[in-house]
Amino acid sequence: MKKLNRKGNTSTTARSLARTRLEYFEQRRDQMVDKIRRFVEIESPSDNKQAVDRISAFVAEEFAAIGGRAQFHRVVDFGNHLQVDFEGETQQKPILLLGHYDTVYPTGTLPNMPCRVGNGRLWGPGVLDMKSGIALMLYAIQGLLAWHGGRLPRPVTVLLVSDEEVGSDSSRAITESLAKQSSAVLVAEPSYGPKGAVKTARKGVGQYELKVTGVASHSGLDFEKGQSAIVELAGQIGAISKLVDLKRGLTLNVGLVQGGTRVNVVPAEASATIDVRIARMKDAAGIDRNLRSLKPFNRKCKLAVTGGINRPPLERNAGVAMVYNKASLIARELGWKLSEAAVGGGSDGNFTAGLGIPTLDGLGGVGDGAHAVHEFIVVSELPRRAALLAGLIEAI
Ligand SMILES: [Zn+2]
Repeated sequence: MKKLNRKGNTSTTARSLARTRLEYFEQRRDQMVDKIRRFVEIESPSDNKQAVDRISAFVAEEFAAIGGRAQFHRVVDFGNHLQVDFEGETQQKPILLLGHYDTVYPTGTLPNMPCRVGNGRLWGPGVLDMKSGIALMLYAIQGLLAWHGGRLPRPVTVLLVSDEEVGSDSSRAITESLAKQSSAVLVAEPSYGPKGAVKTARKGVGQYELKVTGVASHSGLDFEKGQSAIVELAGQIGAISKLVDLKRGLTLNVGLVQGGTRVNVVPAEASATIDVRIARMKDAAGIDRNLRSLKPFNRKCKLAVTGGINRPPLERNAGVAMVYNKASLIARELGWKLSEAAVGGGSDGNFTAGLGIPTLDGLGGVGDGAHAVHEFIVVSELPRRAALLAGLIEAI
């Protein structure tokens, strides 16, 4: 599948093999849609363990039915994480297929946002992010099993976690340890844009909290004895905004502020929560230092900064480029041009790329509206996404 002729075009054999495989998935397109629907119709918000455990068990059975060895990593506060191992014909290190089954939608969303097909689209909560990605993994593996006489060409591990949408605290160690044992990580998170670009760079994400302590007083009787934490915080927000460096891909967003007790009290307390995004890991230490060394404008107020960078950026390093190049070659054999994109949002692919494991993200469904009321995937894109994923498992 990897051969190029002298003109740099894909060989005819490779193209006809790719076409046959695409055909395999075309014939299963409606099955795939049904499967995604089943996944979407089991609601699974990150903060509802019972609900997430339900989809975890359901998905485990699906992978077990095609020969995977499923095991749960049991978690108390979140849903269980699911690991499924498939043996291969060779003893190579496995490919890790990475994703999550938690969503941002509370239970009871479905009646207002039903899962439905229309206009060549499949709509529903979590359909793009990333229940279609789970179905793509399932069908890609199924295809490979069919083409290789019931055994995968190489070992594959599937890891689906339950807490990605809330920071992956309980799954990060598992993700990292499996990634270290794998030769590459393929992340079936949503692709980017209407053309379904894969993601070869993602920003790192951090969260900080700034707490200001001032001195309370009666705003009428003792105004001058008070030291307003809110006035101080307002100044600090200005200082924080000055740390933004768009050219470096470094952004800080004061997304939440809180402060005060009553309108007639000079406020003794105020706080801000700051979302930090970095494009390069080498900017992490500097921004951390800058935030921690903020000085009060009013010396009678005190500042306390907590937090840190919790997802490293996914940088387009050699490993990422290697997997992307393979992906774009496979796409070309399938008859399309696969583009790449750099995005601001993080995923668990940030952890694995941060460890230096070749990682390609955004291999999931094509659509729009992740986390929004109009979330959908484009049905006609499913077969070639499955073919791409299967091709990558073989080619890496
Ligand atoms: Zn996601």
